[in-house]
Amino acid sequence: MAKKAKKGPRQLVGLKCSVCGAFGYVTEYNKNNEQLKKQTDNEGTFPLSKYCKKCKTHTVHKTMKKLK
Ligand SMILES: [Zn+2]
Repeated sequence: MAKKAKKGPRQLVGLKCSVCGAFGYVTEYNKNNEQLKKQTDNEGTFPLSKYCKKCKTHTVHKTMKKLK
């Protein structure tokens, strides 16, 4: 693999708490990840269980569209 391949298929997405709507995380996922791709194709989002500081518990977080 070439070392200089810096720009890959990764995509930045924001994760937002679906309970309180607080913006919690920024993550990146690999668009080549077929499982995620399938889910994003279906729903536009893929729910993830993440800790929400506001709710102080784990809640379902949904991805926002790419940040930039
Ligand atoms: Zn929350």
